[in-house]
Amino acid sequence: MNSHSLLTVPEYLDLFHCSKCDNWSANGKSWLEDSREAAWAGLRHDIFSPDEVENIALEIDVQVEDRAGTVTVILDGTYDGIPVHEEAGIKLRAHSHVCQDCSRRSGYYYEAIVQIRGNRDSTPDEIESALERLLAKAGKDATRVEDTRGGYDVYFVSKDTAKQTGRSLADELGTRTVETSSHGGSKDGKELTRSTVLVRLSPFKTGCVVEWHGRPHIIQSLGRSPYLMDLTNGQGGSVNMKDLETARILARPEDPRETVVVAIDDAGTMILDPDTNKTITVLTPFEVEAGGTVRAVRVEERWFLLPPDRTG
Ligand SMILES: [Zn+2]
Repeated sequence: MNSHSLLTVPEYLDLFHCSKCDNWSANGKSWLEDSREAAWAGLRHDIFSPDEVENIALEIDVQVEDRAGTVTVILDGTYDGIPVHEEAGIKLRAHSHVCQDCSRRSGYYYEAIVQIRGNRDSTPDEIESALERLLAKAGKDATRVEDTRGGYDVYFVSKDTAKQTGRSLADELGTRTVETSSHGGSKDGKELTRSTVLVRLSPFKTGCVVEWHGRPHIIQSLGRSPYLMDLTNGQGGSVNMKDLETARILARPEDPRETVVVAIDDAGTMILDPDTNKTITVLTPFEVEAGGTVRAVRVEERWFLLPPDRTG
């Protein structure tokens, strides 16, 4: 103890300092932005003045450089009605310590992993672009990315954020999430469960033709409820993404060809077969004009007209 006439303070004060966020703590558990507040938390039970000193006002100043410094306690008050002023210095020892928030953020701690995986047709570019979109949504909630076979594992501090972010990405990509939970050991005596949110890229794309109820349908939009249009009768409707997953892909967006409408009659629409240039008759589920151009897609040996492009 350093004894001054009006102020008794300890010789040393030990504080923890997190170099990642610059926060301070007296006990390593509660962290404060202001080093003076942390110093006060560590000192308040160890500062003494004689009972005769009244109207006490204490101020604390902290000077620190490279783990060592000085905490100055400044006392103002009255002694027998006379204003008094006293200052006492305390040697500060600052210990480097990563605070809980930073240790969580730096990836030592995680509650959930969002897994991005491709399907059999995914290109590395598609998987990478899904990762970029996920990271943009997650911001600093994603703490670590691991390159794995077939995709990426993204670590999240919070389960809720991982689920929200994963679902939002899945909606955007026209797929859905598969969420599982597992026992993750214990930490500080608390049981941890860890969540895994799998986002598998859908093999379906807008413009794919799929077999649906035995007939070719074009996917006009994806998302949680993809919109399909029947190429035999032009009727459209929303379906459940989960139900679509098992559908067979009959043609890809790049497969349709442009051709010419030769004539229209009761039997159907006559177009030029894009492969042979012979006139063939196809169903007329969409409005077409003789002499106009249309897009058609071959499904197995048969050609089907496609709805007019919405972009014109
Ligand atoms: Zn920190």
